[in-house]
Amino acid sequence: MSNSPFTPGIVAGRLPDAAYARNFADHEPPLDAHEARVAADRCYFCHDAPCITACPTAIDIPLFIRQIATGTPEAAATTIWSQNILGGMCARVCPTETLCEEACVREAAEGKPVEIGRLQRYATDVAMAKGLHPFTRAPRTGKRVAVVGAGPAGLACAHRLAMHGHDVVVFERRPKAGGLNEYGIASYKTTGGFAQKEVEWLLSIGGIEIRCGVELGRDVTLAQLEAEYDAVFLGIGLAGVNALRTPGEDKAGVRDAVDFIAELRQTADLSTLPIGRDVVVIGGGMTAVDAAVQSKLLGAENVTIVYRRGQEKMSASAYEQEHATSAGVRIICNAMPVAIHGNGAVREVEFAYTRETSEGLKPTGETFRLKADQVFKAIGQTLAGAPEGLAVEGGKLKGHQGKVWAGGDCAAGGEDLTVTAVAEGRDAAEAIHAALTAG
Ligand SMILES: Cc1cc2nc3c(=O)[nH]c(=O)nc-3n(C[C@H](O)[C@H](O)[C@H](O)COP(=O)(O)OP(=O)(O)OC[C@H]3O[C@@H](n4cnc5c(N)ncnc54)[C@H](O)[C@@H]3O)c2cc1C
Ligand code: SF4
Repeated sequence: MSNSPFTPGIVAGRLPDAAYARNFADHEPPLDAHEARVAADRCYFCHDAPCITACPTAIDIPLFIRQIATGTPEAAATTIWSQNILGGMCARVCPTETLCEEACVREAAEGKPVEIGRLQRYATDVAMAKGLHPFTRAPRTGKRVAVVGAGPAGLACAHRLAMHGHDVVVFERRPKAGGLNEYGIASYKTTGGFAQKEVEWLLSIGGIEIRCGVELGRDVTLAQLEAEYDAVFLGIGLAGVNALRTPGEDKAGVRDAVDFIAELRQTADLSTLPIGRDVVVIGGGMTAVDAAVQSKLLGAENVTIVYRRGQEKMSASAYEQEHATSAGVRIICNAMPVAIHGNGAVREVEFAYTRETSEGLKPTGETFRLKADQVFKAIGQTLAGAPEGLAVEGGKLKGHQGKVWAGGDCAAGGEDLTVTAVAEGRDAAEAIHAALTAG
């Protein structure tokens, strides 16, 4: 190891080899059978359980926890998957602290919820390890549906359509299926190639063909899909990124956080991935936290998240903020970038402190500079590459228009979360099935 956290510039191999494996290991270790039974025993099996209402896919949580408590995790997995076919991934990535576990009555009573996410992971992991896929296809209907985008929305839609007996072709522009499960989620949340294992498991129902490397708008048009298929589902996510609009944004060392994270997720040996010594991340959401924490885990010496509004406005949850600070990331709020300095490559970022006024966010007049050899922009993704002519509301596609349905991040309504994308893909499949079999 010739480099260290103190080596200037953007370099690889800042840490000893063993540190990478340790740093990027499972964020939360899986429960073993005994721990799962103990955790399940804390559930009150509430009537009208608030945890179910708080789950965007409405999994029957008390039922699956009871099935774990009675020693039948395979039955628990079936309960989970019948509502959420990516229940294994959601168990790893859902912000449960703001969903089911926040709603759990034991959270309200004791400040310690039933560990629903970890229990869900236990059940789905046990069943997947046994090769269980408890769904079969209905007799073939002869109807064909095109799904664009093999992310959580597209995959959930494809699986439900295949269950109903329709033939599905999924068009995906990237080399691998999975969407942000494969290219976005922090790597310590989904270790051991889980995203691809889950895709393979999902496809084992049959009736789904995935064509990778095919992009809607480049290789195929919506009109062609509408002519060739009985229905089309668009689950294309948010492929665009917002620009900072700050002078110096084009300097070397400044890049989009989502591109850095995608590269990280596709790098087999993380000791080869270059990272700055002084990293500045601009933004306040999950992407900002993930870029910052993973920069730190790659050996950056100083990592700072700078967010333009107050801490309470950050879209990263309190739990995620705490995760960032405990990893050694500094968070500065109420500051916005005004210039990126450096001769060719970034050297410093200049920020202005801000305050909220009735006319919006205003600089206070006070500025400061942060040393930086790498800057990640994490100020939000936007809809890009959607076919022309489709109705858009609030920057997102309308859910249903003619033969075309949309769901997940690209569609209006719902939070941009994996579990919401799964729910919307599943529900669109039910709507498509109803339309294709009506009359
Ligand atoms: C860095 C990051 C971290 C995140 N972490 C979490 C987390 O921890 N927990 C959580 O719940 N959510 C997280 N999210 C949000 C979550 O990943 C998304 O809400 C979810 O993936 C949305 O699913 P989707 O199927 O709508 O879109 P995507 O996952 O974006 O999938 C869309 C797919 O469509 C493909 N596509 C796009 N355009 C075309 C085209 N023209 N032709 C063909 N294919 C196309 C894309 O390549 C992609 O595979 C994170 C997001 C990011 C960016
Ligand atoms: S709210 Fe908590 S205790 Fe009640 S059923 Fe859900 S997980 Fe169990």
